[in-house]
Amino acid sequence: MFIYSTLSRSKEEFSPLKPNRVKLFVCGPTVYDDSHIGHGRTYIAFDCIARYFRYKGYSLFYLQNITDLDDKIIKRARERGVDPILLAREYERKYLADMKALGVENVNLHARATEHIPEIIEQIRKLLEKGFAYETENGVYFEEAKFPDFGKLSQRKLEDLTVHRVDPDPRKKSPGDFVLWKKIDEQPCWESPWGRGRPGWHIEDTAITEEYFGAQYDIHGGGLDLIFPHHEAEIAQMESASGLKPMVLYWMHTGFLNVKGEKMSKSLGNFVTIQELLQRWDGEVFRFLVLSAHYRSPIDFGEDALIQAQNSLERIKKTLQKMVGFYEDPEKQGGIKVGENRKIWDEVHKKFLEAMDDDFNTPQALSVLFEAIRYINRQLQDKSLKNSDIIKIKTIFKDWGEILGVNFFPPEKKEDRTEDVLEILLDVRGKLREKKDWKLSDMIRSDLKDLGFELEDS
Ligand code: AMP
Repeated sequence: MFIYSTLSRSKEEFSPLKPNRVKLFVCGPTVYDDSHIGHGRTYIAFDCIARYFRYKGYSLFYLQNITDLDDKIIKRARERGVDPILLAREYERKYLADMKALGVENVNLHARATEHIPEIIEQIRKLLEKGFAYETENGVYFEEAKFPDFGKLSQRKLEDLTVHRVDPDPRKKSPGDFVLWKKIDEQPCWESPWGRGRPGWHIEDTAITEEYFGAQYDIHGGGLDLIFPHHEAEIAQMESASGLKPMVLYWMHTGFLNVKGEKMSKSLGNFVTIQELLQRWDGEVFRFLVLSAHYRSPIDFGEDALIQAQNSLERIKKTLQKMVGFYEDPEKQGGIKVGENRKIWDEVHKKFLEAMDDDFNTPQALSVLFEAIRYINRQLQDKSLKNSDIIKIKTIFKDWGEILGVNFFPPEKKEDRTEDVLEILLDVRGKLREKKDWKLSDMIRSDLKDLGFELEDS
């Protein structure tokens, strides 16, 4: 299995720190507003990646932080006259519901920043002790110049970096130094050895990952926009605090979901919220659209792309539906024999997995899937499909659906077992009557009556 790492700018063979275990951390949302489909793109991509690790038999721990402490949250809460933490909880709930609607359900743990303040303080204390950070009247800062590797992920030189940052604290040693702890005596704030305040954004993630994964782990993901300064700062903090390199083996970044060539974002106002999308489209259609592109490539979002995704999905489902209807009485086929096509299907499945092994190449995997659909259609036309092929194809498509997070088959109807349950109940009631437990047996009769079942003892 090969994964493209942003750090080396190349595909590397995947070899986790501990055999068969994968620790994956993906930056979570800042919960101050409804999530838009750009967020959806990134989280669908990582959800599929997580599914594939599990499919391959890895034991995966997928961790995500929730930024429930941020100036944007506080600002929004003030505008509405509500408590910032309650506002964050409201949008966290909405975010989780949105993710569920998009089939994103593989995160093992969502860790809130506000619930990891002691870990954050501890990491800052370590950085100060080791001389990587310093304190001013306004806060505690990471001193970029002390970490010569700064810029290794974004491939920027330290000299170029210092001019870019905007920070109002004139007491900083260098403009590029970033904040670890802001001294603020205003709610929400926490006690710390440096007085009341709030943590900086970058330290939140490294404190959380150190808590659950330790100082080193396998994969860190997020959107492209997070490479600099966020992920760069994370490396500087964690590698300085622990003295261990590298903090992360593979850095994975998703491409943007764009509208007319521009990144969909809150600030540009060109966004569609997930809720808005779901009013008109099935979450699965959007998911299919996202997976039709490689996770590192940009996606040009528009109505046309959605229509195309919907048509493709329908075509797949219709073919499979037709195929299932083609299953004949085994008697007529002379029992279930091994079809001639079995080998072909093993080969097709292998090709799908090879595409996924190649840096989770979902568009390539989908082209294998479309080829398979064309093949099935031809076989349906000349009536050459055998029962055993149908069983095999069903299994393969179920596997692919599990990996992609798409249901290619309608949910199986549960058999109505009401009669059987009634039989059991009547049996129990009969035994109660034998024991002359009239109270309980009458209760059963009356409860059944409420459900519309009239019982007559005869
Ligand atoms: P935020 O809450 O803005 O920090 O974003 C949460 C995640 O969504 C980050 O990994 C971002 O990189 C990602 N993201 C935000 N906008 C887009 C977009 N238009 N396309 C793809 N990913 C995005």
